[in-house]
Formats: sequence, structure tokens, C-alpha cells
Amino acid sequence: MQDSVLYIIVFIFGLIVGSFLNVCIFRIPRGKSIIMPSSHCPSCNTPINIYDNIPILSYIILGRRCRTCGAKISARYPAVEAANALFYIALIWRFGIGWHTFFYFMFASALIVITFIDIDFQIIPDTITLPGIVLGLAAGAFVFPDPFLRWSLLGYKGSVIGAVTGFLSFYAVAVLSRGGMGGGDIKMMTMVGAIMGWKSVLLTTFLGSFLGSIWGISLMIFKGKGRKTKIPFGPFLAAGTMITLFSGQEILHWYLRIR
Ligand SMILES: [Zn+2]
Repeated sequence: MQDSVLYIIVFIFGLIVGSFLNVCIFRIPRGKSIIMPSSHCPSCNTPINIYDNIPILSYIILGRRCRTCGAKISARYPAVEAANALFYIALIWRFGIGWHTFFYFMFASALIVITFIDIDFQIIPDTITLPGIVLGLAAGAFVFPDPFLRWSLLGYKGSVIGAVTGFLSFYAVAVLSRGGMGGGDIKMMTMVGAIMGWKSVLLTTFLGSFLGSIWGISLMIFKGKGRKTKIPFGPFLAAGTMITLFSGQEILHWYLRIR
């Protein structure tokens, strides 16, 4: 298959999944089913027709408004769809075609859902992280026996050691900070460890803390927020995870060389 055709198919697939992620982001923290009923306008509750539910296009065609009540549709919906599609393109470009890439699709989508639910509700839902841990361990045994990240321990053992590293390090921080770290963060990093191994846990933690500190300091300087302002950590950990997934190997090599 020609590369351009492949990328177009992957992009459209990413948009469609992204549309489903919007449903997950809205419904999971509200305890609603993600399968039934079909999408509704959050303002007037009218079911949205299939032809009005095309990722990105409908948002533009409808002039950013609900067809029935005219309520403004948040720009987040097309943004989530586009972000998911772009991640899929980047993943297939970086990792090629294979089960491992398909698995990374699910992983990236899970991180997007975690990010927005954590921003909205300051929780990281078990519905995402617990199946993620199980799938990550299974993938370690069946999908990633081949050295996909050569700098991490591989296979089933690598997954278990990664999961334990993620769990213990964040559990320790939670105990030491007396509740500064939530249980959701612990489970999220257990999932990251199961999927990416123990070195990735350390690098992700470092990158996440670094990005989170920059954000926190900016809030203090530019918005006059106090030290005690609570910032959800999930989005920064998710960003750190994606950076690690794409270039963790290069970052570690670079770090070991300059040290
Ligand atoms: Zn409406």
C-alpha cells in the first residue's frame, strides 16, 4: 500500500476513535454508559444525527453550534479528534505497521481520555487504568516479546518490573506527601510501567514533574495563584509518557553521554 493512502486511512480512523474519546471523556466521570444511548447535545439533549456527528467536519459545517438549539459546541471536541488522529499518524510513522502500533493507538487514546477527565474532575478513572494494567502485562507477554524499546527490560518480566516500579514509586510519594498524590496517579503509572518498562517510569516521572513545575510556576507568576493551588498531575504525566514513548531512548542516550 502506498504510504500516503495508509496515512489517510490511519488519520480517518484516528478521527473516528477521537470522536468516541469525546463520549468517554464526558460520560465516564459521570458514571454513564459509553455505548448507549447515542450522542446527545449537552445543552438541549437532542440526539445528534449521524450526518451531524462527522469528526471535525460537522463542527465546521454547523458553524460551531448545535443544529437544534444553537448552543455553542466546545472547540475541545474537534481538538480531541484532531489530536488523536495526529498521534496515530505519528505512531505509525515512528513504529510502523504491527500489533505493537495498534496497541500504542489504544495507549495514546487512553492518555488523552485521562488528561481531559483529570482536568475536568481531578480524577483518573479506574475504568481506564485497571484494564490498561492488565492489557499492558498481556502485551508484555504476547505483543512485545521483540525488543521494541531496546533500552528497557523486555517481555513479560519487563512489564511486571515496570508495573511494580510505577506502583511503588508513586505509592511512596503518596505516603510521603500525605495525600498530595492521588490513587489515580499511582494506577496510571502502574499502567505506564506495565506498557513501557521501569526506565520509562523514571523518565516519565521526571518529565511530568518538570512540565508540571513549569506550569505551576507560570500560574504563580502570571495568574497570582498561591502555592497551594491544586494542579492535576495526570495531564503532565500523560505528556511525559508520550515524550518518553517517542524519544525516551534518545533522551536517555543523550543524558548518559553528557553526564
Ligand atoms: Zn442542542
